Amino acid sequence: MGGNLTKSINLLGKSAEELRAILESLGEPAYRGAQIYHAIYAERRFDFAAMTNLPAALREKLAREAAINLPQIVRRYRSSDGTVRYVLALDEGKPANIEAVFMPEENRQTICISTQAGCAVDCEFCLTATLGLIRNLSAGEIVSEVLVALDDNRDSLKPQTNIVLMGQGEPLLNYDAVMAALRILLDPNGLAISPRHAALSTSGVIPGIERLAREKVRPLLAISLNASSNEQRDKIMPINRKYPLEKLLDACREYPLRPREWLLFEYVLLGGFNDSPEDARRVAKLLANLRAKVNLIPWNPGELPFARPAPARVAEFQKILVDKGILTFVRDSRGQDVMAACGQLSLAEAAAAAS
Ligand code: SF4
Repeated sequence: MGGNLTKSINLLGKSAEELRAILESLGEPAYRGAQIYHAIYAERRFDFAAMTNLPAALREKLAREAAINLPQIVRRYRSSDGTVRYVLALDEGKPANIEAVFMPEENRQTICISTQAGCAVDCEFCLTATLGLIRNLSAGEIVSEVLVALDDNRDSLKPQTNIVLMGQGEPLLNYDAVMAALRILLDPNGLAISPRHAALSTSGVIPGIERLAREKVRPLLAISLNASSNEQRDKIMPINRKYPLEKLLDACREYPLRPREWLLFEYVLLGGFNDSPEDARRVAKLLANLRAKVNLIPWNPGELPFARPAPARVAEFQKILVDKGILTFVRDSRGQDVMAACGQLSLAEAAAAAS
C-alpha cells in the first residue's frame, strides 16, 4: 500500500528536508534524501540509474515509486546572437506552455525564467498580459526551467550562471513557490547560483516586497518602473492604481539593503510616451537617495502600438540620470530575431496550434 501511495511522486522542487522525509517514508535512511538532493540539483542527474552513489536496490525502488519529471521542450528558437528561447510544456496540474530563455555571454550564461503561466497584471506593453493568468507554477516547475536550459546547453556552459525571474508572470504573486524554488537555486548544495547573480523583477507588488525584505536568502530586487508619474504609470501598468508610485518608492526606501546589494529599476523607453527629458528628470527625483541602478530598455516595435525611441532621446535620458549620480545602463533586449517581449512565444505557439 505504501508503494502505491508514493508511486511516481515527483521529486523535483523538493527541498533537502522534504527529500529526507520522503526517503524515510520509503523505509530508507534520511541521509539518502540529501544525496538525492545533491544528485538532482548539483549534478543534474535526472535518471535514478545514474545515481551510482546509491545502492542498486534503492535506485530500483526509486525508479518504481518516484520520478523526476522535467518539462518537455516543445520548441527551441535560436537567435543569431546565440540566445535560445524554449517553449516548455508543463503537464502536472492544468497543462500549460511557458517559456524560458538561455542567453550565453563570454564568461557566463543568463537564464530568464517564468513564474506563472500567463499573468494577471495586465501591463499594456506586454503580450503575456493578453493571455491572462493560466496558473501559478510550482517550485519544481520553476527550478526545472533552469535545469532544462542548463542541460540542453551542457556542452557549452560557462562557469557562472545568472538567473532572472523576468519571464511570464508576476513572481511576487506566486510568492511561496517562487521562494521555495529560489532556496534550491541559490543553495550552495543545490544549483549554487550566487544571490548576487539572481534578480527577481516585480511590477511593484508592495506586500511581496515587504515579505522579501525579511528573507534571509534572496535575489536582487528589480522594479519594473516604466513611468515617471502616477498618471503615466496608471496608463501602462494598471497595478499602479493599487500600489501607486509614492507608496512603491516608500517600500523601496524601507527595503533593508545589505552591503553590495542595490535595487534595480527597469525602464522600458516607449517612444513619445515616457522618454522625454522631463521624464528623465522626474525619474531622477523619484530615485533620489536610493541605492539604485537603472536599466533603460528601448522599446522594440512589435504588435503593440508603441514606437522605438530615437537613439538621441535614449542617450539624453541616460545622461540626465547619470548627471544626477544614478548608475544607468542602456540594454537592448536580446534574441530580437526570435521574438523579444515576454509572452510572444506562447502567443506564437497558440496561433500555430490554432492554425
Ligand atoms: S510585464 Fe510582467 S507583470 Fe506585467 S503583464 Fe507582463 S508578465 Fe505580467
